[in-house]
Amino acid sequence: MTHPFVTALTNHSLSELQMIPKSDLHNHAGRGGNRRYIEAWANTPIRPPAAKFASLAEMQEWFTSHVKCHCPGFGGYLKRIEASFVQAACDRIELLSMSFGPDEIGLLGGMEAFIHTMDTLRRQYSPQTRFLPELSLLSSTNVDLISDQLEEIFSYRWFHSIDISGQELAQPIRNFQAIYRQAKTAGLVLKAHSGEFGTADEVMEAVETLELQEIHHGIAAAQSPQIMKWLASHSIRLNVCPTSNVMLGRVNGYSSHPIRTLYDYGVPVTVNTDDLLIFDQSVSEEYLNLYTAGLLSAAELDVIREAGLAAY
Ligand SMILES: [Zn+2]
Repeated sequence: MTHPFVTALTNHSLSELQMIPKSDLHNHAGRGGNRRYIEAWANTPIRPPAAKFASLAEMQEWFTSHVKCHCPGFGGYLKRIEASFVQAACDRIELLSMSFGPDEIGLLGGMEAFIHTMDTLRRQYSPQTRFLPELSLLSSTNVDLISDQLEEIFSYRWFHSIDISGQELAQPIRNFQAIYRQAKTAGLVLKAHSGEFGTADEVMEAVETLELQEIHHGIAAAQSPQIMKWLASHSIRLNVCPTSNVMLGRVNGYSSHPIRTLYDYGVPVTVNTDDLLIFDQSVSEEYLNLYTAGLLSAAELDVIREAGLAAY
């Protein structure tokens, strides 16, 4: 029997896709909501980006001057988190890995208040979603100063995984080795942003140095058959975000996205949103974009969807 997801894709039906269970395993919490939701709340239009971003810094600047400015302060931050949970419910995201920085824990006054707030928002706005919180460290983090704080954060056993985001190679990846050992001992799933801007060799180095189980983006690995084969044989999953890659100029368009090559080499991949408030494409839309571009068949995309839901 044809799965309803395959039928929804072949019908190009967004509303049907939105009713089918999906995962989103790469989602920065404060930027994961729907733009219309924030527009309605702030009662102001948000103009979409006029062109692709030349860099992460330019993207951040656009986000600050076009979105964050409409949701200022503590209340605005909470509204953006709320928007991310609402979006997950609207798009039937049944497995959601959402990342937060240590500064966000500080903003809410420490781990207890932070956990209480996030769990309350999730129960209220996305009760059907299995929520896997991720702690994301900036690549520029002073690793010597954060170790004690991490010990305290890990002791709550609330975070499911750890990540490094921001400019790749802001410092040598080996600087994070001790922190990742600490996270492994605490039982966290080890992930990091890599291979969005860098090379296949840098992806490999990050995986080996930090003992990563998953990579956010990792698309540069498609440049090396040898490294793809290694990732496939070690079941290292790549959480791919197609529109993010297009908007940041990492690929020319959906029809040439390397997720095709990665899939063909047997590398486990998932389809995710990254920063929905910026890139404005839901998980359902990401699937539809890849299908419409002719990059992957509906059946192949269903395999990817199922793998995402079975991720943990
Ligand atoms: Zn990201």
